[in-house]
Amino acid sequence: MPELPEVETTRRGVAPLVVGRFLLDWNLRNPNLRWPVQLPDALRGSRIARVRRRAKYLIFELEPPSGGLAGSLIIHLGMSGNLRVLPQGSPYLLHDHVELLLAAEGEGAATRVLRLNDPRRFGSVHWQPGEAEAHWLLAGLGPEPLSEAFSGEYLKRAAKGRRVAIKNFVMDGRVVVGVGNIYANEALFLAGLRPSARAGRVTRLGYDRLVAAVQQVLRGAIDMGGTTLRDFVNQDGNPGYFKQSLNVYGRLGLPCRLCATPLKGTRTGQRATVFCPNCQGAQSFSGRNR
Ligand SMILES: [Zn+2]
Repeated sequence: MPELPEVETTRRGVAPLVVGRFLLDWNLRNPNLRWPVQLPDALRGSRIARVRRRAKYLIFELEPPSGGLAGSLIIHLGMSGNLRVLPQGSPYLLHDHVELLLAAEGEGAATRVLRLNDPRRFGSVHWQPGEAEAHWLLAGLGPEPLSEAFSGEYLKRAAKGRRVAIKNFVMDGRVVVGVGNIYANEALFLAGLRPSARAGRVTRLGYDRLVAAVQQVLRGAIDMGGTTLRDFVNQDGNPGYFKQSLNVYGRLGLPCRLCATPLKGTRTGQRATVFCPNCQGAQSFSGRNR
């Protein structure tokens, strides 16, 4: 499943290839994604002014010919989606469901296409007039994990009185967006926090460490993704997702990389959880000293 680093890598790969180009037309080859795709006719001729990201949504801001912000195409890659930028007329792959036809300034016809391929069709494409953040999918989302708003102080305050496990807490998109299961496991290990610790009992220091760890794992994944950007213009359908070297996720029973204790597994809110019983303090601990 594309996680925040993959989505950010996609944004960095796609943006330079589409920004400044005009949306001449589109093909909804299969509009039956998670929600039916409908695009208003008035979008024809608008210009892609910017591609940004909020949580795991890619936001294509469109300008009308008269200038200003017409609105935003909001694209989610779902469980299995990817975006590719290709020359117009490139052969379709199975599961290429939505295609935007793009022309550069002065070109009379589309020369480039942006295609959404999504075998499982959990992805989505929405049109939101004006600011994307007004869309119901984006309303109520927590802060971005790589923003200044995401801090130990913020988490400590948000966790006050909460009995939920710290792992579920940090994976809750209303608390902070984009911390998927793999990254939650890895960040809790780096922070020395037991995944089952109650959110309300973790100390401010523990939260400071958790914020640093979340940012470290996400930045590491984004940096690794940067080496695969060329894949976005290939036709092989490989979006260039990447595997990070992981400390705990997928390593159940193997020795901890820090202390060699066999890693333990549990399930937290139906998601696989792996941790080191030695390095990641007892239930109520706030984190190891180091
Ligand atoms: Zn250990």
